[in-house]
Amino acid sequence: MSDVQHESVIIIGAGPAGYTAGVYAARAMRKPLILAGYQPGGQLTITTEVENWPGEKEIQGPDLMVKMREHAEAMGARVEEEQVANVDLQTRPFKVVTDSDRHFTADAIIIATGAQAKWLGLPTEERFKGFGVSACATCDGFFYREKEVIVIGGGNTAVEEALYLTNFASKVTLVHRRDSLRCEKILEDRFMKHPKTEVIWDTVLDEVVGTDMPLGVTGAKLKNVKTGEVSDINTHGVFIAIGHAPSTELFKGQVEMRDSGYINTKPGTVSTNIPGVFAAGDVTDEHYRQAVTAAGMGCMAALETDRYLATLEDSLSNAAE
Ligand code: NAP
Repeated sequence: MSDVQHESVIIIGAGPAGYTAGVYAARAMRKPLILAGYQPGGQLTITTEVENWPGEKEIQGPDLMVKMREHAEAMGARVEEEQVANVDLQTRPFKVVTDSDRHFTADAIIIATGAQAKWLGLPTEERFKGFGVSACATCDGFFYREKEVIVIGGGNTAVEEALYLTNFASKVTLVHRRDSLRCEKILEDRFMKHPKTEVIWDTVLDEVVGTDMPLGVTGAKLKNVKTGEVSDINTHGVFIAIGHAPSTELFKGQVEMRDSGYINTKPGTVSTNIPGVFAAGDVTDEHYRQAVTAAGMGCMAALETDRYLATLEDSLSNAAE
């Protein structure tokens, strides 16, 4: 085992919540350490234009995340691209171990590990991932110029992804398991009126069909959930857009979570059931899921951490007197 490094506050995750927490905790002179994982920047690193970050009419997602990192570092936060493998939130100080076997202890922890796209779990989905199966239209849409694609799902993400794909594809077919969408009406209207779009209702993806050499998608088998009938569709791309799941595997059994796996916080706060452990951003928010709301929660978590650490310091100095 390597030496144990003690920190006042460790922030796990480096999306808008983690970096904003870093800015605020650094300005509170708490010298935060951000453990950023192998892909710092979170979900915004796989988007293109961001048009709803205040102060930037339009900015590329990856550029915004570089700016956030630079900002946090300029304020005094340290960022390390270490992937957390284990945490122990039942002891004091808390323990954090990374997969390169670095051991840390911390008086406070901010969990900002975000969320990631869900997959259906079909073997053929796995086989063609990155070769015609994708969960990110903004990352991969460009490869489907003048080709036909299908999008699985019926929520905001699915319809937004489908509309985005109309910029490239010759036809975009939405495949939804029910007979109505759950997205915002304005998106539904836009989608329904678009000349390149079509919907197949009451239908799920049964199988992705393709070739081995070269590895690529040529079609899909779709199953009608009412009749059980399976039909074939020709397509070059299958986009899975069935929602997101929080990245909370590390914290299972250690901190209170909702049935959906999102970390529970006391209403209107970022406090978990463990004093000194705070949760910010998509890891706790299954409703708004915006960069700006995540950043707001990162700010709240750093302010709460500062208060928590001040109380801890007071109680230690009182005990020493
Ligand atoms: P969502 O609202 O949970 O929608 C997921 C969709 O995928 C639903 O239509 C669901 O079908 C379908 N689905 C789930 N599991 C499936 C499966 N195993 N097989 C087939 N279909 C499946 O997720 P989301 O669209 O990612 O949105 C999540 C949250 O983020 C929402 O609160 C949303 O409003 C928000 N969001 C907002 C924006 C925006 O404001 N522009 C953009 C993206 C997301 P059912 O309808 O039958 O359940």
